[in-house]
Amino acid sequence: MANELSFKQELTAVFGQPVAENPTQAMVEAAYHHHGLDWRYLTVEVSPADLGVAVAGARAMGFRGFNLTIPHKLAVMKHLDRIGDSARIIGAVNTVVRDGDKLVGENTDGKGFLESLKQHRDPAGTRVLILGAGGAARAIGVELALAGAHAVTIVNRSQDRGKELVAHLRAQTGTKAGYVPWSDAISVPGDSDIVINATSIGLYPDASSPPVDFESLKPEMLIADVIPNPPQTLFLDRAAERGCQTIDGLGMLVNQGRIGIRYWTGVDPDAAVMRESLEALFG
Ligand code: NDP
Repeated sequence: MANELSFKQELTAVFGQPVAENPTQAMVEAAYHHHGLDWRYLTVEVSPADLGVAVAGARAMGFRGFNLTIPHKLAVMKHLDRIGDSARIIGAVNTVVRDGDKLVGENTDGKGFLESLKQHRDPAGTRVLILGAGGAARAIGVELALAGAHAVTIVNRSQDRGKELVAHLRAQTGTKAGYVPWSDAISVPGDSDIVINATSIGLYPDASSPPVDFESLKPEMLIADVIPNPPQTLFLDRAAERGCQTIDGLGMLVNQGRIGIRYWTGVDPDAAVMRESLEALFG
């Protein structure tokens, strides 16, 4: 009987040291499995010095795309052919998508948050208060501004970073943006519609909440956290006690994964399956 297997021009990847359990990998592969997609999502460690050759390798090996984490989000841009609009404004790429023979850089951090938020409220015309001025706050601030938020207020511990983000939002999106220093428990202005914790406070094993005067929260405010682990943070618990609707960071992570899978495969994956895989990991 003829054997149709052929081994031409192939190179088989063998990873002897898989990177420790990676939530994104678990979530993406759960979606592939659920939808019968014969795809793989592998996590490999790349040193900053090797980033250029790693991207060239991904090109040569026909990768349909890849994700990047810190410290590669900025440095990767010079190795790509095109940068999507919001990734260019944010100044960071966390997702690369092959379009024909071109590699396109996108940023799904803020887009994932936006998809999660839009299930509850349209951000157009809203006043948003963001706690934090790091990468997550920047991506979320840019996407909210592009989605038509009326005003974005940044509250951050280090003034330089907070003011720099405000200047960036004003210059790049034309939105009304302002900086408020964060010394003590912050009192949330009564006209705020959406309040977001975009700091790393509350990420496991830290069980604390960002210092906020919870008495200043009104039940009509929507409160969101970027922390995916644990999904139910102290910040969200305290906000719920004030009667506020809350959105957890797991939704943001799931939606980022969904957007990536849509970019790469064209399939819109089942969010519930992806969320279950993360809940199993985070317990
Ligand atoms: P960065 O390190 O870029 O920024 C951290 C931010 O948190 C800064 O604004 C920093 O303030 C602030 N911060 C940290 N500790 C304190 C503290 N003790 N008191 C006051 N402010 C503090 O991190 P990222 O923006 O990349 O990530 C932030 C969080 O977002 C992480 O926990 C990450 O897990 C989460 N995340 C979640 C995603 C999701 O899909 N759910 C996606 C991306 C991120 P300062 O500038 O003063 O240092």
